[in-house]
Amino acid sequence: MTDKNRIKKILTILDAEYGTEVRTYLDHNSAWQLLIATILSAQCTDARVNIVTKDLFKKYSSVKAFADADLQELEQDIHSTGFYHNKAKNIIACCRILHDKYNDKVPCDIDELTKLPGVGRKTANVIRGNIYNEPSIVVDTHVGRISRKLGLTKETDPVKVEYDLMEKIPKDHWILWNLHLITLGRSICTARKPDCEQCFLKKLCPGAMQSK
Ligand code: SF4
Repeated sequence: MTDKNRIKKILTILDAEYGTEVRTYLDHNSAWQLLIATILSAQCTDARVNIVTKDLFKKYSSVKAFADADLQELEQDIHSTGFYHNKAKNIIACCRILHDKYNDKVPCDIDELTKLPGVGRKTANVIRGNIYNEPSIVVDTHVGRISRKLGLTKETDPVKVEYDLMEKIPKDHWILWNLHLITLGRSICTARKPDCEQCFLKKLCPGAMQSK
């Protein structure tokens, strides 16, 4: 089977198992809320971020409110997400730019997004895919690990993984790739113990039955 056909089959199976609805695991009601939630999600679980943002978005109800936040107070508010000093500093700086330069709107352009403090390609791609429906591949820990298992990249650097995947995955599945692999990575193909025996991709996965 060619690599192209194998990838096509993998995508068809993932679509059938998990559906094709674009969804996100981070609770939000607007683009700027998703941006802040994604900044907070670095080195933190989505579940923890959702607990924190539930109160955080009530306390700071606009971009301007974050832009004017007191650094130490915001650090306390987001403390449990880890790396709170840098995250608080970046959120305030980012929201000041959003307020002053973008009229409280979150830009869609990747170059503009990645110039914002605390926003790397991963966060920028979350915004582009989930808010603007622009084909983009978000590479997080699940995507990197499982894409390597599936033989779609050998790279470990997230940006290099993203470029490999953009070459191999059809554009209409760029957004879904992240969503599918997060779901797979949280249930069957976990980092601790992939359950290859039960995995619906085992016949298409070169990494099946191998150790971690
Ligand atoms: S077959 Fe195993 S390694 Fe491959 S995706 Fe499934 S659980 Fe992961």
